[in-house]
Amino acid sequence: MERIEAVAKNLRASGGRMTPARKSVLNALVSARSHVTAEDLMNMVQAESPEVHLSTIYRTLDALENLGVVDHVHLGHGRAVYHLADNAHQHIVCELCSSVEEVPATLFAQLERSLMEGYQFKVRMNHFAVIGTCKSCQAREQKQSG
Ligand SMILES: [Zn+2]
Ligand SMILES: [Zn+2]
Ligand SMILES: [Zn+2]
Repeated sequence: MERIEAVAKNLRASGGRMTPARKSVLNALVSARSHVTAEDLMNMVQAESPEVHLSTIYRTLDALENLGVVDHVHLGHGRAVYHLADNAHQHIVCELCSSVEEVPATLFAQLERSLMEGYQFKVRMNHFAVIGTCKSCQAREQKQSG
């Protein structure tokens, strides 16, 4: 099954209807293959449907998030970016070169359990990226200091 069909199936399973705006936004998310802002999505959608405004994009993204098929994440100081919610993942972002890598959400299971057990805090790890220094930037830093 194509990814867009699988997403459409999830949408209907959550009780959502497929509208032209939803379809355009989901198609744009599938073809983007990476994390895009609402403005990026607007530009992609407007290439085919110039009448779709940014407010419609935001409204559509909201509805798709409520239906559980789209998610947004904050990768750093910039705007929220959107991605399909069909594969649970967490983002690690390098604060030096801004590279973004996706890692399995399960890596954080122990931390989630500890926060629940120790603080009765139900953490939602994937709302924000984990910030640090990537491998190649660490290598560069070591060279500079050595
Ligand atoms: Zn947010
Ligand atoms: Zn993502
Ligand atoms: Zn880096």
